[in-house]
Amino acid sequence: MSFDYRKLDLKAGLEVHQQLSSHKLFCNCDSQMLQQPKDEIFRKQRAVAGELGEVDAAALHEILSNKEFHYKVYPEESCLIEADEEPPHEMNRNALEIGLKIALMLNCEIPEEIHVMRKQVIDGSNTSGFQRTAIIGLNGWVDTSFGRVGITDVEIEEDACQIIEKTDKKAVYGLHRLGIPLVEIGTAPDMKLPEQVKEASEKLGMILRSTGCVKRGLGTIRQDVNVSIKKGTRIELKGVQDLSKIPNYVDNEIKRQLDFIKKKKPVPKEVRRVNDAGSDFMRPLTGGARMYPETDIPPISIDDKYLKRLRKQLPELWEEKENRFMKQFKVSKDVVKQLNRMGMSEIFERLVKNGHDPKIVSFTLTSGLTQLKRKENVPIENLIDDHFNNVFSAFKKGKITKDGILSSLKQLANNPKAKIETGETVSDEASLRKKIKEIINKNPQVKNAPRPEQACMGLVMKELRGKADGKLVMKILKEELVK
Ligand SMILES: [Zn+2]
Repeated sequence: MSFDYRKLDLKAGLEVHQQLSSHKLFCNCDSQMLQQPKDEIFRKQRAVAGELGEVDAAALHEILSNKEFHYKVYPEESCLIEADEEPPHEMNRNALEIGLKIALMLNCEIPEEIHVMRKQVIDGSNTSGFQRTAIIGLNGWVDTSFGRVGITDVEIEEDACQIIEKTDKKAVYGLHRLGIPLVEIGTAPDMKLPEQVKEASEKLGMILRSTGCVKRGLGTIRQDVNVSIKKGTRIELKGVQDLSKIPNYVDNEIKRQLDFIKKKKPVPKEVRRVNDAGSDFMRPLTGGARMYPETDIPPISIDDKYLKRLRKQLPELWEEKENRFMKQFKVSKDVVKQLNRMGMSEIFERLVKNGHDPKIVSFTLTSGLTQLKRKENVPIENLIDDHFNNVFSAFKKGKITKDGILSSLKQLANNPKAKIETGETVSDEASLRKKIKEIINKNPQVKNAPRPEQACMGLVMKELRGKADGKLVMKILKEELVK
């Protein structure tokens, strides 16, 4: 599927929410979300007239549905603040600093004073009925190969509760996610091609990760894409996990809007959740969020001296790192990009500086580990520097072969306290041929297999366990099996 995007006047923007690696934003609770709940509290919400006397229609709708809100309590991951029984403490300065660095990397202007605001939330996902949020950057930009994309604002805010169960009468939430510091980045609707949206989202992700201070893994980063076309409307798409699918999501939404336009019907303003086939209705698009000042938290002044210091501490940008790696370690741009994308550039640099071969290290950390994870579901996250150092040293000393690197890492990932299994490698062709002949003689049936080399290869590699070079084994097998 592909459209004439220019003719359609496609305008797309992004909103990225990223959890920071720090304790909670307005209390000292831990933000790891590893605990089991110990208790449960429950609340009901009621509508009260706002400052101007009106009652929010959406709030009213929630009230009429007469819902009960239950909250699971996690002893070290929530306290009286998450339960909304104690006012918030001062803002977590470490989280604020990470946020400010992100805003600076996105070329934003930083306000002289940070004001915490309350943004009304009516679905019960915040015990207080609002989310605390503060603007920490404005009017920035990020460059893509299709052109510059404006960053309208960067905010630091508290994450909402995690939904655990939802029925018509009741919603059950976990308090452990409430209050985890989040950075929200909003772009201008400057993107004119689906591929540009994908590139911008990847780039924002890389900038976030280059701080080394953001959480990794499922649910720690959430991306929304907004899409509009001529005669259509602005639709918010939520639930984007796989960035490579962004162009599909955008195309699906264009197609959906074009169907309305063809039937001369207006496109309803809504928030939708993406799936592979298209998207599902989530809720109507509400007007601008209602914001009130958070009177419990005094404004925070940001002086020039502090900003100057932060600018000096900004991490090396990915592009700079790519260029440096290419020059310093003689690896290709694709390899560096992959290392960066997989969050492997730091460990790569440490291992290479320890004297290991850049080509072998980069191949192992990218394709090698991906293969172990995808094909064999090996818990590669167990691997630490020591494991890699030991395996690469064993390779350098000739104790294991190139093929043995991955099988050794697999053993270590499955059993991180184990030592690497090394034996003498069988590197000379004559003794290897002898060994292979023995294996074939022991298993004569393999000669009749549909693909005898492949069948034999499996047997040989199982027996030699990475002590022989795969290519050499294959060469010998081909010669021996022809006989
Ligand atoms: Zn707390």
